[in-house]
Amino acid sequence: ALLASLLGCGGRSETTAPPSGSLEDRQVRALLDRMTLEEKVGQMNQYIAPIYARSIDSPDLAEKLDDLLARGLVGSFLFVTDAEEANALQEKASRARLGIPLIFGIDAVHGLAPVRGATIFPTPIGMAATFDDDLVERSAEITAHEMRATGMHWAFSPVLDVARDPRWGRTAETFGEDPLVVATMGRATVRGLQGPDRSRLRTLACLKHFLGPGVPLGGRNMGPVDVSERTLRGAFLPPFQAGVAAGALSVMAAYNDVNGVPSHASDELLTRILRREWGFRGFVVSDWEGIEMLHTTHHVAASQKDAIRQAVLAGVDMHMHGEGFSEPLLELVREGTVPAWRIDEAAGRILRVKHALGLFEQRYVDASRASSVLAAPGHLTVALEAARKSIVLLRNEGNRLPLRKNLKKILVTGPNADNTALLGDWSAPQPAENVITVLEGIRAAVSPATEVRFVNPGRVFEETDEALARAAEQARDADVAIVVLGENETRYDEAGVLDRRRRERTGGEGADRADLTLVGRQLELVQAVVATGTPTVVVLVNGRPLAIPWIAENVPAVLEAFEPGLVGGRAVAEVLFGDVSPSGRLPISIPRSVGQLPVHYNHPPSAEGAYVDESSAPLYAFGHGLSYTRFVYSHLRVPERIRQGEAAWVSVIVRNAGPREADEVVLMFVSDVVSSVTRPVRQLAGFQRVRLSPGESRVVHFRIPFDALALHDRRMARVVEPGRFEVSIGGLSRSWILE
Ligand code: BGC
Repeated sequence: ALLASLLGCGGRSETTAPPSGSLEDRQVRALLDRMTLEEKVGQMNQYIAPIYARSIDSPDLAEKLDDLLARGLVGSFLFVTDAEEANALQEKASRARLGIPLIFGIDAVHGLAPVRGATIFPTPIGMAATFDDDLVERSAEITAHEMRATGMHWAFSPVLDVARDPRWGRTAETFGEDPLVVATMGRATVRGLQGPDRSRLRTLACLKHFLGPGVPLGGRNMGPVDVSERTLRGAFLPPFQAGVAAGALSVMAAYNDVNGVPSHASDELLTRILRREWGFRGFVVSDWEGIEMLHTTHHVAASQKDAIRQAVLAGVDMHMHGEGFSEPLLELVREGTVPAWRIDEAAGRILRVKHALGLFEQRYVDASRASSVLAAPGHLTVALEAARKSIVLLRNEGNRLPLRKNLKKILVTGPNADNTALLGDWSAPQPAENVITVLEGIRAAVSPATEVRFVNPGRVFEETDEALARAAEQARDADVAIVVLGENETRYDEAGVLDRRRRERTGGEGADRADLTLVGRQLELVQAVVATGTPTVVVLVNGRPLAIPWIAENVPAVLEAFEPGLVGGRAVAEVLFGDVSPSGRLPISIPRSVGQLPVHYNHPPSAEGAYVDESSAPLYAFGHGLSYTRFVYSHLRVPERIRQGEAAWVSVIVRNAGPREADEVVLMFVSDVVSSVTRPVRQLAGFQRVRLSPGESRVVHFRIPFDALALHDRRMARVVEPGRFEVSIGGLSRSWILE
């Protein structure tokens, strides 16, 4: 009974008693019947790919893998990065007694970026800024095609962490601070990666990190997450629930603990909520050595073996990565501490997914075809569309932008003008000819007569007095200066392996910051340029919000480009020179300073108190984003009353009152005027992107499902309380009564 309650179920599992007698389930049963305990545990093992293992100095492991494969003791690899290696490993696995195919996982978080030659989309924070979930779905579908062409099957994506502390280095990997945006983009990613048919997956999606790492104490990666159950239920769990409902068949546990219980040992999260409440049918993978951390970091397990016991009993089905998992687990089963059915269950879940991926029918790929699929022209078109839609115009005093294309002289400077910061994290080094930097984009956009003068100030942390002086000097007689700043680019060693220890890396996993100002001497650079009196534009290439109050007050035109991907430099130039009207909106608030954190817009009403030394308002709030045209909102209509259970239909008229065709992102917020527990001051309840010609009007309709109004009351019951609800769209607001 203790075990049953630990597992949060009757002690039996779906796999031992499959609810459906589908062909797939029968095949998996039949296979399980033929497998030894060792082979079943083998399916639960993921290793790093041999080539990668060698590159990170683990040649011993690379040697051992052949033997493990021959004995059928490997279920999965991560970081296989080309079709040849994929085929070679599959071939080795096929020679084992049962020849079970392998599943290959990779951090394809924004395109198949860890692979050389692939399409790279904006990082998720930029994808969220598009507020275009159809586009997110199409980009994920492209990612899936590029993955399958290279022999990969499993994307460690979408990241469904709601980001509430931008000091966290992984903020760029998230869809921002709003649960609805994260849920909607997550669902779209699952659809794009997996396709419409759950029994014939394009690729496998992985919802991560379950749960909570977007709000770590102190903004530090893997830091403790201490949030109320009400906030977990109201903000952090819903995106995962949406991902499960969309059919995602894998979930990754989070490194962190949640209110004292490490996720990897949380049967509450991994079994009770995920499976019993939501009906998840896939498998759970640990994060990289996340099981080990129960012992080494969290100290909730006295030994590695006990860590494995806790994780497997809580619901972890696959171990990422390496040695030291199988033997203790086998011992635990032989001792009777972990029941054998739990191993059947875990292996069965993994095998079912391998079936759904079609791996038992075809495990190999035509390696000669991969290069024609990677970065195919149609894929790059979508990457460009995403980059265009992701750029947020933060400021445009006196309509400095767009710029004329026939200016006489343009100065381009800044550490991110001509580097690969725009590719974002999890990107392998790419062939230079595949990447369009901001400088290259600008050169291609202007008239042949325009002089584009580039002053390279060096990498962030390397700017010298001399470089700053040169930039200022060149700015003096330029018509405009474009200064491209942001976070430092990721660095690789000669073998193309990311060196995560380098101190200059200022974003990405493990690169958390105590400060959010521009690193190095970037601010001095822009100040030197502005001091010349030459009109200046700042372009920011970064994955996390940066506190830039001086720039926001002193530079007339500021673009937030996030990390716009492979062809992002072209999109930036198109916005600068007016081929494209900017239409991105901030999916995350930009603070004025670290001391203001947290600054998310959907905070409780009492969170607006003043500081004596800082404004309480963020520099730019969630949803901010300017355009080159002017949109006018009118005729906001809401129902007068709705009854329990009814959806509310809301509409508004949006008119393009400006001079040019452009997209507008319409954001609709709801507030619960009086409630039994405190609620966010407002919450996004819908969004739509519309394209309007000059003078054109459109009625935009929203349906607010009744459930979207729910709260967790004082007894933690999920209810919708009668009373007044207020809707606001584009500066208009109206309310209705719920009876
Ligand atoms: C990250 C995961 C990632 C895994 C494999 C971990 O450190 O937290 O997001 O999927 O590594 O690369």
